[in-house]
Order: sequence, then structure tokens, then C-alpha cells
Amino acid sequence: MNQTKYIFVTGGVTSSLGKGIIAASLAKLLQARGYRTTIQKFDPYINVDPGTLNPYEHGECYVTDDGAETDLDLGHYERFLNVPTSQANNVTTGRVYLSVIEKERRGEFLGKTVQVVPHITNEIKSRMQLLGQSGNFDIVITEIGGTVGDIESLPYIESVRQLLWELGDENGIVIHLTLVPYLAAAGELKTKPTQHSVKTLMESGIKADILVCRTEHELSDDLRQKLALFCNVKKEAVIQSIDASTIYDVPNLMLEEGLDTVTLKKLGLPEKNSPDLKQWNEFLQKHKNPKHEVNIGLVGKYVELQDSYKSILEAFIHAGAANETKVNIISIHSEHLDVKTAEKHLKGLDGILVAPGFGNRGIEGKIDTVRFARENNIPFLGICLGMQMAVIEFARNILGYADANSTEMNDSTLHPVINLMEEQKNIKNMGGTMRLGAWKCHLKENTLANQIYGATDIMERHRHRYEFNGKYLQDLENAGLTASGINPDTGLVEVVEIKNHPFFIGVQYHPEYKSTVANPHPLFVSFVKAAVEYKNK
Ligand code: GLN
Repeated sequence: MNQTKYIFVTGGVTSSLGKGIIAASLAKLLQARGYRTTIQKFDPYINVDPGTLNPYEHGECYVTDDGAETDLDLGHYERFLNVPTSQANNVTTGRVYLSVIEKERRGEFLGKTVQVVPHITNEIKSRMQLLGQSGNFDIVITEIGGTVGDIESLPYIESVRQLLWELGDENGIVIHLTLVPYLAAAGELKTKPTQHSVKTLMESGIKADILVCRTEHELSDDLRQKLALFCNVKKEAVIQSIDASTIYDVPNLMLEEGLDTVTLKKLGLPEKNSPDLKQWNEFLQKHKNPKHEVNIGLVGKYVELQDSYKSILEAFIHAGAANETKVNIISIHSEHLDVKTAEKHLKGLDGILVAPGFGNRGIEGKIDTVRFARENNIPFLGICLGMQMAVIEFARNILGYADANSTEMNDSTLHPVINLMEEQKNIKNMGGTMRLGAWKCHLKENTLANQIYGATDIMERHRHRYEFNGKYLQDLENAGLTASGINPDTGLVEVVEIKNHPFFIGVQYHPEYKSTVANPHPLFVSFVKAAVEYKNK
């Protein structure tokens, strides 16, 4: 197949309808039919990337192998498709403007007035086609962030309009995701908001080819007919997306509704074989029929907002299925916890995870949590900041360095067991300057880490500024903390563990970013297994 086909996904009526999940589910079905498919997301905000955003603003910042700090929807794309994404898969308005302004400064526009149309739209269009032109994909799905009608979305909608015109019939289509609300007082589902949102799209010159309607109740035949007539789409192109108990059900629900077949028809592509979802359904089967159940404490400071730890929560779903175990995540705010109350908050847990994070707030609670897990032999996993806290706890309570700390929290500590690398010391620009993306790690033989991975050389993704201070390596190892994973190029410590504990491991990287349905992450799988064993002891 020569011509890459493009699918644009827009959203109407409200935000948070789950465009990312619909895009990922459609991509999954197309992939399962044998089409090489990728998904990209265009976000209409001015930040160059979400790396500088507080998790409360925008949920977790997802990191790709190439070190891009991206929207959390890219995590869904990878978890569903099991294909890595990259910087090209996530573009923001800030990034678009930055590159246009840089070109202007270099004089590349030859004295022309630089304008939203055509300069910004040309930049958007060229980025929309970047992955398509790589030759690696038959189908590129582009999710447009925000809601149709937003001021910020206008240049994207105009770019989609132009691109559809340039690509020609059957090479590009638009799927519009809307809400069909249920009015309890009237006992009715309402189509008017959808009609208006389709009309708004029309005002920008775009006709929706397919409507995906989020709904709490089944859409009747009459209602589908009405939506089709008033929104100018074929009845078979009115797709119901009913609330599901898990996002992992959505590909099957879309299959039943025929989203993939109607899409292929509109794109003039053959259906090929019926989708191969064998592995996917085996995962679902295990996820829905657990034989065991464990309670795992997630100790962090952004626990009020579930999206802040999205990839961690999803990694537990994958690992739970792999162990045929229902994993209940008990969110615990690290600010509410100290040595005295640790027992109250943490008793009865079968495993404890100390989460990644930045800054001082809630930090002592995390250190006390580590201590509780270590002293009570509860399976423990520390991720990034969680690993750093494990090192601090060990230095304080085993080595007796009472003021041991990270220089992020206390830059005058006499025992900076976690500190900034030399390269990081003079950095003034906060965006995109952390240690980011995939780095090599060598695991020492016969360690827990080595046993978990069944390998000695791994690659994992990072996102942090501070590091284990090598000056303390000898002291800490002599006292029983093993540095079991080392970066072979820099010598930096990436994994620590404690020998005489059933399962205690801290990793400087973020294993959660690499867990997918097809490849549950070994660290999470082993952690859940350890929790089951702890519970049954
Ligand atoms: N704040 C720590 C650092 O920058 C940890 C970051 C994280 O947990 N992602 O090193």
C-alpha cells in the first residue's frame, strides 16, 4: 500500500470523553486486522510540552524512549498497541509556534509577514504528516486535543480541513466524538448537543464521517436514525460508546459496533482478516476472573487526582492479570503520614509503593513509609523519588546519618546521599532538561533485580534531575543496601535492594511507562506476586 491513510479524531460537547481511549481502541482493531497503525496527539496549549505542567493540571507526564515528555494519552497508545511512540507523536501549540518563530528569526520566510494561515497551519500540516511519510505506517490516527469550538483549536481544525482537501477522498476521514446526555427527569437521551457540535465543525468546513457517541444508556434504532439524519452521516456510521467497566473493554465494544469496518470502508481499504484479539482477550479473561486479591498502598502526594499516577495504575492492571490477582490500590497521602501514624495508615497492606514526585511536600511521610515497609518485611517498590527516599531512609536509620537527605529537599545537609549531577548544576531552563528517556542499565547477577528481569542488560525510561550520590555507595553497600543496577556508561546507580527482606527494591527509572497489555512489566508482575505470597504467608 502506497498512500498512508489519515484518520482525524475530534471531540465535541465536553472534554474528558475519552478520545484517547477511542483512538487507541480503533488503532488496536486496525492493527489486529494487519494494518500498521500509529496514533499522534495534537494539544492546543502553549506549553512546549507537558513536562513543566503540575500533575494536578494535566495528569501524569508520560515519557517516551526518545526522552519526549508527553501527554498521558501516549501511554494508552503504547499500552494498547505495544508499539513505542516518540516526540513526533505529540505536538503542542507551543512547539508549533516555537519552531515557526525560530524559522522567522533565521530569515527562512524571506521577508514575508508570518501569519496563522498559512505559516502556523503549514507547520501543523507538515507535523501531521511526519509519521505518515516515514513509510512505517499504513494508517495514522491524529487525535486533536480540546473541544471543537475552542479558540485554541481553530488552527488545528483549519489544518485538518486543508489536509483533507489535499489528501483527497478516501485518504482522510474525520471521526467526531460527542456526548449524548441522559436527562433523568425526562427519562430521555438527548441528541441536540451532538447536532450543535457537528454544526460547529461544519462551520469550519469539516463534515464528520463517523460519530462516536458517548452514552450511559443504549442508543435505540430511532435515535441512531435521528442522529444520522441531522448530523449528515450514514446510520452505520453512528457508533455507540457506552460506559464500560474497564477501558480494556472498549476495543471489543467498538468491534461489536463496527467502528473498524465502517472506518475501513470510508478509507477504501479492504477488511482483510477479522481482528486477531486472542492475546488481548486472554488478558481480559484473567483480569476479570481473579483467583487472588491483594491491597497495595500507593503513597504519594498527588493521590487526589488518579490521573497523576495513570501509568502506575495501569501497570498494576497488567501485572494483576498476569498473576490472576485483583489488585486494590489504596491511595495514601504522604503528607498525612509520619512515624507515629504509619502503622495506622499502612497496616494490613500486602505491598507498598512509594511514588515518583518532586519537591518537599510530604517527603518525610514517604521516608517513614519506607521504614515501615523495611522493618515489617512488607513487599516494597520505590519508583524514582520513591527509590531516592529508600536510600535516604537507609542512610538515616541504618547508617545513623540523621540528617541524610536529597539536596532537592535540603541543600545544606551534611549527608547528601541524593544530589544533583555536575551537568545539572548550571541548568537554568526547566523544560526538557532532566535526565529523560531510555538509558541502559546493567543488573548484577544473582540479585533480586536480575532474577525479576531474567536478564542482565535492560533499558528503562527516566525523568529526574537528582541521582544516587556515588560517594556513599561503599558505606551503604557495607551496611546491606545493594546497588544491583548500574548505568554501564555513567556508573550511576539505577537500582537498589535489600538482601534480608522478602522483596525490597527501588528503581531510579520509571518501569510503569513500559508496561503494556502484551508485555506486563516484570517489576510490577513480581511485586504483585510478592504481595500475594506475603498475604498467604
Ligand atoms: N524529584 C526527583 C528528581 O528530580 C525525582 C523525580 C521523579 O520521581 N520523577 O530527581
